[in-house]
Amino acid sequence: MSWTVHADLRADCENCAGLCCVALPLSASADFAIDKDAGTPCPHLGDGFRCDIHGELRQRGFPGCTAYDCFGAGQRVTQVTFRGRDWRSEPEIAGDMMEAFRRMRRVHEMLRLLEEAWSHEATRQITTMMTLTIEDLEAIAQGDLESLFDIDLDHRQKSVGILLEIASAVIRTTDGSAGPLHGRASLVGARFRDADLRRASFRGALLLGADLRGADLRLADLLGADLRGARLDGADLRGALFLTQPQLESARGDASTRLPGHLDRPTHWPT
Ligand code: SF4
Repeated sequence: MSWTVHADLRADCENCAGLCCVALPLSASADFAIDKDAGTPCPHLGDGFRCDIHGELRQRGFPGCTAYDCFGAGQRVTQVTFRGRDWRSEPEIAGDMMEAFRRMRRVHEMLRLLEEAWSHEATRQITTMMTLTIEDLEAIAQGDLESLFDIDLDHRQKSVGILLEIASAVIRTTDGSAGPLHGRASLVGARFRDADLRRASFRGALLLGADLRGADLRLADLLGADLRGARLDGADLRGALFLTQPQLESARGDASTRLPGHLDRPTHWPT
């Protein structure tokens, strides 16, 4: 399947007022060098809403920033919801702007996952349900602040989760049988080296530090799987479902890892 993430659902920092660097809290850890409260600007956020240490985030102790993706919520809130206004020039809008960003990211993440499911030939039988949900979420993303604040995001996420589960089952069982089911399993440090995991389900699974070197993960469902520190050297992830860039960034792979076409090879992976 050839699929490209729609430009609106990809981060465009040029058109964002640095919202992720303000709205989100940071906890001093292996991922972030400092503690910072939600709503407080990061001290590295410079003029023009650019990160002063962008080129050396890993070396400076901020690998967590390289693994973050707003799915395009930043530019949508800055340019559409707030029509180009920003929290620095107008501090009185900062609170609403940050809350809008946190909510919009959830909307955009749902859109990103639904669009991926929709693009599969195998899901034609549930296209109408997905199309209606995508149109509904898109209307919210294009709408005003009030409608964004009014929607029950937990409820929406539950319905979208059910739709994605149906889509995953349909895709994984078309032209073959489903692989092993490891949904929500605790697989910290598990050994799957060279395993045949085609069409498996790992949705919500904890795969921290798991050894997936050389594993065949084609058409495996990785929705929400925690891949921090997982080894993906030589693994085949072509067609893996609902895999996102932040998941890849948090894992370890190399030049021989085969990726879905819509994702980029993390620059910190050895070549
Ligand atoms: S280190 Fe840079 S990218 Fe990370 S939160 Fe601070 S300003 Fe943003």
